Amino acid sequence: MNAPTEAPPLQQHQREAILAALRAVLPAECLLSEQEDTRPYECDGLTAYRQLPMAVALPQNEEQLIAVLKVCRQLQVPIVPRGAGTGLSGGAMPIADGIVISTAKMSRIVALDPLARTARVQPGVRNLAISEAAAPHGLYYAPDPSSQIACTIGGNVAENAGGVHCLKYGLTVHNVMRVRMVSIEGEVIELGGAALDAPGLDLLAVFIGSEGMLGVVTEVTVRLIPKPPVAKVIMASFDNVVSGGDAVAAVIAAGIIPAGLEMMDKTSARMVEPFVRAGYDIDAEAILLCESDGLQEEVEEEIGRMSEVLFRAGANAIAVSQNEAERMRFWSGRKNAFPAAGRISPDYYCMDGTIPRKRVAEVLVGIAEMEKTYGLRCANVFHAGDGNLHPLILFDANAPGEFNRAEQFGEAILALCVAVGGTITGEHGVGIEKIDSMCEQFEVSEIAAFIGVKRAFDGAFLLNPNKAIPTLDRCAAYGKRQARGGLFKFVKQVNA
Ligand SMILES: Cc1cc2nc3c(=O)[nH]c(=O)nc-3n(C[C@H](O)[C@H](O)[C@H](O)COP(=O)(O)OP(=O)(O)OC[C@H]3O[C@@H](n4cnc5c(N)ncnc54)[C@H](O)[C@@H]3O)c2cc1C
Repeated sequence: MNAPTEAPPLQQHQREAILAALRAVLPAECLLSEQEDTRPYECDGLTAYRQLPMAVALPQNEEQLIAVLKVCRQLQVPIVPRGAGTGLSGGAMPIADGIVISTAKMSRIVALDPLARTARVQPGVRNLAISEAAAPHGLYYAPDPSSQIACTIGGNVAENAGGVHCLKYGLTVHNVMRVRMVSIEGEVIELGGAALDAPGLDLLAVFIGSEGMLGVVTEVTVRLIPKPPVAKVIMASFDNVVSGGDAVAAVIAAGIIPAGLEMMDKTSARMVEPFVRAGYDIDAEAILLCESDGLQEEVEEEIGRMSEVLFRAGANAIAVSQNEAERMRFWSGRKNAFPAAGRISPDYYCMDGTIPRKRVAEVLVGIAEMEKTYGLRCANVFHAGDGNLHPLILFDANAPGEFNRAEQFGEAILALCVAVGGTITGEHGVGIEKIDSMCEQFEVSEIAAFIGVKRAFDGAFLLNPNKAIPTLDRCAAYGKRQARGGLFKFVKQVNA
């Protein structure tokens, strides 16, 4: 399935002129244009959508990247920035007559300052590599997406990535101090600074999470924090998802901010256990993983308080990790849950919506009802403390109609998230996957404001076009479709 493109296809001579201009500014090994070379870039983690790009540029440094952007600006070539391609919303999926700019060759840790507790890194540095480099100083980079072994800091900035420990330590936006990026005009712009706050408008916060649509990141300064001396994790079992979901709200309501608070339903625990042998209770309808970190005394006290709250909320068994190896084992199941889905289903579609914590139980019940409506199974494994759901809809792309049903199921989950006061994305971004759901979430005036921000940075709409922000026409079409089912408000506003 190709993403919609609006420009007419280029003629062969136009493509050749673009490739020649790119060859003039890049070493030969930094430009791929043969299909066998560009094939690995045809999709990101949302593999149901694929598109070969015209070419892939792999600049080795900022100067080459600026030159590539200038060529693209001049010749009106759309660009898709790409880190590791682990994104799950199609953000790095290419555009047919566009180029992909991969940051794979810009993967150096430029400086690490243990006194200031910061690291300056190029965009292609892997998330985990930052913590590995900081470890000898007793420091680490807190945001830890489950994909951290592969995903890059450039991609994390573009998606405002989260992870298990973001409940206590904040998302990417809270842990990045400065971003250096190149605009579509080829101008270098620095956002944020070395201090906790920077003067002027907070454009850093606008940029983080902008999904490659406002500029290409060339360097990031991240905050490092001391590694807590002790961490322990509780695994709590529940005999129904409602009490498991309610326990999440109860922990936070008790004034505790765990270092991580994750939930897995029975389908997820059973899917992952034979794969990782994490020691999960596979008879429980839901399990919660609750982590505490800090000084020994703090951790003991918090684990005690959390255990009490969990028992009161209906937990029927609790296991506490007794050593670091066991703690890592408990987390390894959670972190490998997505790949484990491949063991029980040929394909899966990972959704990402966020809801108020107190509505977790009700939304899980709603999703269980939808399994019957759409005739597909769904495994739930998610950042419960943040209310960030990750329903994994299991389907077989080779079975006629199943992918369409999976898409409809996904759309219905996101609509439910919005209906209970939540949002259509938590951390995976909108990309191409949730572009229609943006029309569900936002009013016409809000979408128009987003388009205005995009225009201010990229008036020619060349950076990752047709992603993340729908056009008003697209929302009108979506509104009409939904209104036929008697569901939707957007159509009224667009047609008014
Ligand atoms: C198994 C698995 C588990 C995951 N778990 C999590 C999780 O716990 N939390 C979470 O937040 N995400 C998670 N993800 C999603 C994904 O890993 C994150 O969105 C990650 O931030 C993407 O990084 P990347 O380097 O792979 O970026 P890509 O997928 O290559 O790109 C993502 C977006 O960033 C843009 N981009 C990339 N580099 C740049 C740059 N230098 N400048 C400007 N824009 C750029 C792209 O255009 C695209 O829009 C998971 C994915 C998988 C496959």
